[in-house]
Amino acid sequence: MKKLIEDSRKLIFDYSKRGKRAYSLPPDYLPQITLDDIEATGLLRTTRPGLPEVSEVELVRHYTRLSKMNYGVDDGFYPLGSCTMKYNPKVNEDIASMDGFLELHPYQDEEDIQGILQILYELERYLSNIFGFSEFSLQPCAGAQGEYVGLVIMKEYHKSKNNVHKNIVLVADSAHGTNPASVTGVGWKIKTVKSLNGLVDMEDLKSKISDDVAGLMLTNPNTLGVFERDIIKITDLVHSVDGLVYWDGANANAVMGYLKPVDAGFDIAHINLHKTFSTPHGGGGPGAGPVGVISKLTGFLPVPRTIFENGRYSIVNNVPTSIGKVHAFYGNVNVMIRAYSYIRFMGSRGLKAATENAVVLANYMKHRLSEYYEIATEGICKHEFVISLKREKKEYGVRALDVAKRLIDYGYHPPTIYFPLIVTEAIMIEPTETETIESVDAFIDAMIKIKEEMRNNPQLIINAPQNTIVGRLDEVKAVKEPELRYRA
Ligand SMILES: *Cc1c(COP(=O)(O)O)cnc(C)c1O
Repeated sequence: MKKLIEDSRKLIFDYSKRGKRAYSLPPDYLPQITLDDIEATGLLRTTRPGLPEVSEVELVRHYTRLSKMNYGVDDGFYPLGSCTMKYNPKVNEDIASMDGFLELHPYQDEEDIQGILQILYELERYLSNIFGFSEFSLQPCAGAQGEYVGLVIMKEYHKSKNNVHKNIVLVADSAHGTNPASVTGVGWKIKTVKSLNGLVDMEDLKSKISDDVAGLMLTNPNTLGVFERDIIKITDLVHSVDGLVYWDGANANAVMGYLKPVDAGFDIAHINLHKTFSTPHGGGGPGAGPVGVISKLTGFLPVPRTIFENGRYSIVNNVPTSIGKVHAFYGNVNVMIRAYSYIRFMGSRGLKAATENAVVLANYMKHRLSEYYEIATEGICKHEFVISLKREKKEYGVRALDVAKRLIDYGYHPPTIYFPLIVTEAIMIEPTETETIESVDAFIDAMIKIKEEMRNNPQLIINAPQNTIVGRLDEVKAVKEPELRYRA
């Protein structure tokens, strides 16, 4: 154990010794340049570069060990609510890694890239088909950027209608933090709409509707995993003052194939390809947050647009009404290839089945856990649900954070905690559609055991994790004073 702990703290530099080599090229391969040649250019450095010098086996062991210290969805159940950490079929990864895609260059001539343009064009059509919006732009590279783009489109729409007084966007109190941040980002004001029993409080919404309202941002199903029953009334109300309604489609795997958000009155939306459509989510890796709009807003979508005319795909940059460019070149194309391949593999029946699985598994878990824990909302949920540890905190002094840490001892990535903010001591669980009943049951069993431990030995949970290399970290300090430099 001691060695494990010591090794876990080592950096590649700690193995370094002058002259060690992992790999040497035969001299014939090296350019015939001497130090004198470089000195003559005046470019010879005077200090040694601080590069580690290690043997090949040290190199391999170091990074293999690091890779094993990670926990990902390929290791086990990852019920991180709101994040949709589902398993991504490897075949889509293989397809995105085909040489023909890897070797593409954005400066290539249109004639040479007809294949990828067809994929981008068809992916936009598929998304329109699944979600009902007239057109999509694949440009935004994250959900949050999609929100920003959607709000800029909203702004342009109001400008075009001379609605210059409009400067308020309504945001539900259950919203993801990116929603209010995006509103602030475009320079508009936020008004928060309260929820009642996990749904938008209609009376509160009515009291906040005014001619200054530019729009409303809503996640549906919301972050409590509940579908807004009054959605038509909500969108009608916002439309009555010429406001636009934005669908935060991060929870698309709860409705895809069953609900076209346009039918519920939504005007603009983003979806997260890196949650719903087979790109790994997390670690800040590349993502894509395509934005869809209804027909009256299509002219505002970002450029470039991909079009199909006379049997040929082309890229259009000259759209006078467009909000302009929001990403270099064509966005994160590798993510789009995965989504395209995923949709083709699943087909419409497969996508519907994914939605069904996500919802059925969440309800199964919620039902079984409701015998042991308090669930924040009543009735059927969609793809996720929230537990409140309000009672346990009072009775045993055990908080949501403690249970999350104890779950690590049982070998799980903890669920989302303390979100949504409207639930005290929240634990937000999303099983996703790709889990088996066995893995879900095993997690439920762990949660039941933890409940028993609360009664018998709460300290075990309060001091968890017990079985990891390091215990409780000072998370605030880790954020405020990150140590990112190697000092010899
Ligand atoms: C993940 C998420 C977002 C933000 O998406 P990113 O791609 O992480 O920027 C927005 N809203 C909800 C509800 C989300 O779950």
